[in-house]
Amino acid sequence: MTNPLYDTLFGRYAGKATPFLRLPDGSTLTHDAFLIIAARYAHVFRDAGVAPGDRLAVQVEKSPQALAIYAACVQAGIVFLPLNTAYTASEVSYFVENSGAKLLVCDGGNMAALSPVAQSANAQLETLDANGSGSLATKAAAKPDSFPTVARSLDDLAAFLYTSGTTGRSKGAMLSQQNLLSNAETLVDYWKFTDSDVLLHALPIFHTHGLFVASNVTLLAGGSMIFMPKFDLDQVIGHLPQATTMMGVPTFYTRLLSDARFTKGLAQHMRLFISGSAPLLADTHIQFEDRTGHRILERYGMTETNMNTSNPYDGDRRAGTVGKALPGVELKITDAATGNTLPDGEIGQIEVRGANVFQGYWQMPEKTAEELREDGFFITGDLGLIDENGYVQIVGRNKDLIISGGYNIYPKEIELVLDDQPGVLESAVVGIPHPDFGETVVGFLVANGPTEPDLDMISSTVGDSLARFKHPKKLIILPELPRNTMGKVQKNLLRNEYSLLFT
Ligand code: ATP
Ligand code: MG
Repeated sequence: MTNPLYDTLFGRYAGKATPFLRLPDGSTLTHDAFLIIAARYAHVFRDAGVAPGDRLAVQVEKSPQALAIYAACVQAGIVFLPLNTAYTASEVSYFVENSGAKLLVCDGGNMAALSPVAQSANAQLETLDANGSGSLATKAAAKPDSFPTVARSLDDLAAFLYTSGTTGRSKGAMLSQQNLLSNAETLVDYWKFTDSDVLLHALPIFHTHGLFVASNVTLLAGGSMIFMPKFDLDQVIGHLPQATTMMGVPTFYTRLLSDARFTKGLAQHMRLFISGSAPLLADTHIQFEDRTGHRILERYGMTETNMNTSNPYDGDRRAGTVGKALPGVELKITDAATGNTLPDGEIGQIEVRGANVFQGYWQMPEKTAEELREDGFFITGDLGLIDENGYVQIVGRNKDLIISGGYNIYPKEIELVLDDQPGVLESAVVGIPHPDFGETVVGFLVANGPTEPDLDMISSTVGDSLARFKHPKKLIILPELPRNTMGKVQKNLLRNEYSLLFT
């Protein structure tokens, strides 16, 4: 093989008129038509002087053409660097400068704001609009419809994916062809994807979930995707009857459950619902099964590693767990101070090793050395345990651990109690600086209806079920929790906003 990732995911469909992307307007883009778009883009990039190994940054709306840029980069040996569409010009500037991207593709509407960014980073600029038009498309139209695939090896880099920035500044994870390919192969097998699968795709494609998990798995299996620009409840409900599988963040599932049109009848024909990127509340899992008869399959992964664990396809899918390590992935729970492996049942840091684990953070050798051990284990930054059934339970992130008066407090434990209180939809527990305890527990609550939950009653119930040092010093009702585009609760925003609460 000259270029394993290209040949396996894309090249083998050359000349095949099989359906690949089913679009909301009812049209279908075949594999072959998709490859032609990609080949033309690859010509544009090569002619612009973007060489194999160079980075190409992309901040565009989701579209078939946007996905074709990924294929074009793989074919031309260019490192693909997709960016969150919510990033502002100054944020994009950081990524373009930091990555040394040779070319930036942006939405035509952002051209004015981003051309100074491209200029100061010495990057060329092309545009691609949501409808597929723009300077990239114009240049591509005159190019040949095939491109000589650039030879690459499994160790060559395929993408820089910046982490979501939930806990701090985003880091550029360097992912090799092998990282992506090995995980896609594992997941197709584990989740039993085939060429008759139709995946309902409403996730963004700048993040590992929608890009590598969803798209690579579908490409490898030879199936197709109902490719929606974003999660729109009406559209998702409208297209569900044509799908066989769906991947989503937990909020997709809570939004479906909040709609009476989402019935057992509507979901009955589905083969599989998968959830990840943020914790799925056990309550959502149970409600979903009550409504549809389906047990959502929850899995756990991250930008740096793709997927690490998954609940089983055939066996018991357990609510509140992320399942077991995937084949080819080793997972252990370690003591943060000593690095020693802890016995099952004890909480510690989650470490993983396997062909899926990234090559390091771009230009952050110290950070890489801190998190990626010499023996190949990656310290994920998540805390968890292996329960009595051998399933992994995540209790939160290392950075969200609260240390109060010398005691370790895991927010998840308190959140589970708060979530269960009458009138509470969901909660987030964070540590806020406190003069006596160093840090103390504060609980943020969102009401599940127009009436506010009774905070005094909740405080006393919590008092009965949790040890004293875990009691929230204060409960605060918020209209909603701050979340980023992947549905992750941004606890750092809560910590910053309320940092002076006890001073
Ligand atoms: P940053 O590393 O920049 O702070 P981030 O960790 O949110 O951001 P991602 O790589 O997008 O960036 O997210 C990976 C994280 O998402 C995991 O480390 C974990 O904390 C969380 N996560 C993913 N899947 C699950 C899941 N099923 N349950 C709980 N948490 C999950
Ligand atoms: Mg992270």
